[in-house]
Amino acid sequence: MKAVQLVGPRDLRVHEIPDPVPGPRDVLLKVAGAGICHSDLHVAHSEQPLFRRPVVLGHEVTGHVVDMGSEVAGWSLGDRAIVHLCWSCGECVACRRGDDNLCVATGRRAQPPAPGLGPDGGMAEFMKVPARFLVPLGDLDPVTSAPLADAAMTPYHAIEQSRSVLKPGATALVIGIGGLGHVGVQILATLPDVRIVALDVDELRLKTALTLGAHDTVRGCPDAAARVLELTGGLGADAVFDFVGNDATTATAVDAVAPGGMCQFSGLGGGSIPASAEARTGRGWPWGAWLRSSYGGTRTDLEACVRLAQEGRITIEVETFPLADALDAFRELERGNVRGRAVLVP
Ligand code: NAD
Ligand code: ZN
Ligand code: ZN
Repeated sequence: MKAVQLVGPRDLRVHEIPDPVPGPRDVLLKVAGAGICHSDLHVAHSEQPLFRRPVVLGHEVTGHVVDMGSEVAGWSLGDRAIVHLCWSCGECVACRRGDDNLCVATGRRAQPPAPGLGPDGGMAEFMKVPARFLVPLGDLDPVTSAPLADAAMTPYHAIEQSRSVLKPGATALVIGIGGLGHVGVQILATLPDVRIVALDVDELRLKTALTLGAHDTVRGCPDAAARVLELTGGLGADAVFDFVGNDATTATAVDAVAPGGMCQFSGLGGGSIPASAEARTGRGWPWGAWLRSSYGGTRTDLEACVRLAQEGRITIEVETFPLADALDAFRELERGNVRGRAVLVP
């Protein structure tokens, strides 16, 4: 089959590899769509041996069931499915309490195995998936639904984990209105009476944010936090979602969070979080504010995103590319030219 394989640092190839063969508990999907996440760019560029190579990339995948192992029950040929990206152990202390996105089977600072970042992913014609990591898609279009697996689930999880501060009248600041952020704005817009402030360096993305439910926009710059304070009576945002994670945005997040507020760091842009423990000195962390790093989402979060899409409450802006043109799609994402999410179609 044709597949997008990362062979080494910055060595991404579209070439033929053997078709995967499902084991007894696996389903074989004929891939319908595979989204390109900014994390795929980070991984493709990384010199560090954090992940197995060569690896077929792609952790945002939908498809149709075309084969399955002898022990698989509950799936039929032709069913549409989306792949949950946290291939968790199901047995560790985190999995048992329902935090399957925080599975600790591979260590304290590792992440649960994810297809495309260890096991082969879905930027290919076929993908082998353990049946327990599949969620039914129902009638949803499988191509435009692929980004539900990450671009929707990851912000959904961060927002769910901020519900204690997202009360009516609260302000949410969304930093980075790309793949994740443009869905994050729509998920926040489903909450009652939450004011949404969108922040990006790209004027077009801010315009898009307004059409998706944002109430105010702030252009990314060193004074961005001051602008957020102006918009919030000097106190800051009750919830801050950083979907970029570089040094500029982490500083903005620290300077813009309200006392008692919540900062959710999802972006993996290599930034550090510059905060002093004492609120009144240096870049003081406001009293009572929470800081959380947010990874992926639980299977339940993915199911909730599928429901929101089925109800028409979130719509992903998708730009499709033929699988054969994957390298062009990666280049466009790197140049900042993709609106919403790029999805590869085999
Ligand atoms: P994307 O390329 O689609 O979007 C990035 C957006 O950030 C763009 O709109 C860009 O204009 C904006 N941006 C860039 N620099 C900025 C700055 N200094 N200030 C404000 N806005 C800025 O990326 P994506 O796929 O949405 O991913 C975003 C980040 O989240 C990446 O670092 C990715 O690796 C990470 N990620 C994390 C998880 C997780 O589980 N924690 C999951 C998926 C993606
Ligand atoms: Zn991702
Ligand atoms: Zn586990």
